[in-house]
This record gives sequence, structure tokens and C-alpha cells, in this order.
Amino acid sequence: MKIIDLRSDTVTRPTDAMRKAMFNAEVGDVVMGDDPTVNDLERMGAELFGKESCLFTASGTMSNQVAVLSLCNSGEQIIVHNKSHMYNLEVAGLGRVCGVQPRPIEAVNGEYNLKDLEENIIQPAIQTAPTTLICIENTFDLNKGLVVSKKHIDDVCKLAHKYGIPVYMDGARVLNAAIALGISPKKLCENVDMVSVCLSKGLGCPIGALLAGNKKDIEKAKFMRQMLGGGWRQGGVIAAAGIVALKNLNRLSEDHEKAQNLGKKLKALGFGVDLNQVQTNIINIDLSSFDIEAKAFCQILSKFNVKAKPIGLNNIRMITHMDVTFEELDRVEEAVKATIKELDFYRYKD
Ligand SMILES: *Cc1c(COP(=O)(O)O)cnc(C)c1O
Repeated sequence: MKIIDLRSDTVTRPTDAMRKAMFNAEVGDVVMGDDPTVNDLERMGAELFGKESCLFTASGTMSNQVAVLSLCNSGEQIIVHNKSHMYNLEVAGLGRVCGVQPRPIEAVNGEYNLKDLEENIIQPAIQTAPTTLICIENTFDLNKGLVVSKKHIDDVCKLAHKYGIPVYMDGARVLNAAIALGISPKKLCENVDMVSVCLSKGLGCPIGALLAGNKKDIEKAKFMRQMLGGGWRQGGVIAAAGIVALKNLNRLSEDHEKAQNLGKKLKALGFGVDLNQVQTNIINIDLSSFDIEAKAFCQILSKFNVKAKPIGLNNIRMITHMDVTFEELDRVEEAVKATIKELDFYRYKD
């Protein structure tokens, strides 16, 4: 029986159309600048975000590091969400690779308190590490996939720019945000200085991310990508899948519908699911009304051929994506019911 893997949208496999495009890709040498397929993908990426230039990188993590290396110098300070990927899940790359000091600030549902943000902008002085970058993440929180509004992004940009500080958006899933908001990625990102997006999540590519910004910054980013070992040679083989993906962005809305559908099913079974917070393709599920730990729950669930990701003691995450059909969500529901039965944990805590 097919395993339904809801741990992440990164598990999506390249489609037949992508594999064909990869097979037939025209290629050159990326470092020498003459891979036509990579050049095409980068042009499409620049257009998508309404920026002058774009760079194809190996991953979202690489894009983040390259962005910081391009916009900041060692010994400076950058503001990040305390729950951001950049701060929590990049093996301390901000410190070790970029040489910057991250200043983590709380952001409720991905929104900084603007006064708090302004007070945390550090000016150059004899004892300080000056703030030279403000980062935002959209969608926010990889265990929730919350959409950050255009207004908030614009407010942050306005404040940052008042101090001459650029804004970088870690937009691994920014296309999900744009679709949920019903506005173009270009409009959504019009005021941010640099933005990245993963091609290897909901869009289904095997590998890759894009980083878009102005010409000067992306020119520098090219050097930084090279330094990190991201100067591919015949990268067109990979970029070809990205081109197929960018022509089919609207497919992401289907993942959002699936998440709502599955979220409702789980809520009806007694799980803690806040449907207002199922804004894109991610469902955060609180198990605390059942007497069971997340890890144990996922272990049993996997026996019924469904995989979910434990996040913390009592929460699990399910992400819907293109390799799971609407019909298969019924199978997920059955597997969850079977798990409850097996555990015999109908015992609700009061
Ligand atoms: C997935 C993700 C990344 C990292 O992308 P990789 O391609 O896995 O390196 C960075 N930031 C956010 C918000 C993500 O969700």
C-alpha cells in the first residue's frame, strides 16, 4: 500500500513533465554564465518577484546564507524572528558562515511589534554591532505556515528603510502566502530588498531555490554562492524542473484546500486544530486532549502507512502537497482513527 507522507512538502517527487524537461535540458556551464536553462530560470525568477536579478541556488538554506553574506558584513547584527528557520534550523550558519550576530525578536504570527522592532535597531557606536539587516519569514513558522500580510511587510520595510537598512524575506513558501492572499508575488514583495523561494517544496522540484533582488546585490550574491560551493556546472539539468514548476504556480491553492479538508477531519475526531491557523498547506495538531506523546502517535500512525512529523512533546505537523490526493485524505482519516483505537486512548484528560 502506498505510504502517504505528510511530514513535509519537500517529499514531493519531480513530475513526469519535470523529468522530461530535465532529460531534454539544454545545458552550459553555470559558473561561466552560459547555461541557457539556468539563465532562463533566473530571468523567470526575477520577473516573478519584480526584481532586477535572480540567482539559482542549491537550497533555501543556501539562499538565506548567501543573502546575509551579500547584504551584511561580518561583525554586524541582523534582526530575525525568534522562531525563524534562519535562527533555529541552519546549524548556526548566521554566526559561523556569515559572521553576523542574530538578534532574535518575538513575532506573534510572524508580525513584529513595530515599536519593539525599532527599539532593537542598534546604531553604530564604540561598543555595538550595528544592525544592518532585518529579516522576515513568509509563510511564517514552518510548523504553522502562517501568512504574513502585505501591510505588515510594508510597515517593516518602511521602518527599516528609514534607517537605511535592507529587508530580506525568507520566502521558502512565499508563493503559498501570495496565493493565500490572492496577490501576486511581485506585489507582495515590492518593498523587500531581497527574497528567496524554495522550488523543492510545494512546487515539487527535486532541488533548488531562487534568490531575487537588485542587480548590485545579486551580483555580490553570485560571489557568495561561489564561495559556499554553489557554483554548479551543468545546472540546467536541475533548473529545467524549476521552469516547469514556475509555469504551474497555481497548483499550490489545491494544497491549501487539502489542508482545510484534512484539518476539519482531524478536528472532528477531537484533535486540537485551529482552522483559522490552517492558512496554507500546514496543519499543526495538538494531541494534548489525548493522553499520548507526539512521537508515539507518529510511530503507530506509520504502521497504517501514514507519516506525520512530531514537533515538540504534544504536537504534530501534517503538510499537504501534490503527491497526496483528496481521496487519500480519507485514508489518512482512517489511519488516524485506527491509531486512536490501537492506543485505546479514548480517555480524554479533563
Ligand atoms: C524549508 C525552509 C528553508 C530551508 O530550505 P531548504 O531548501 O530545505 O534548505 C528556509 N526557510 C524556511 C522558512 C523554510 O521553510
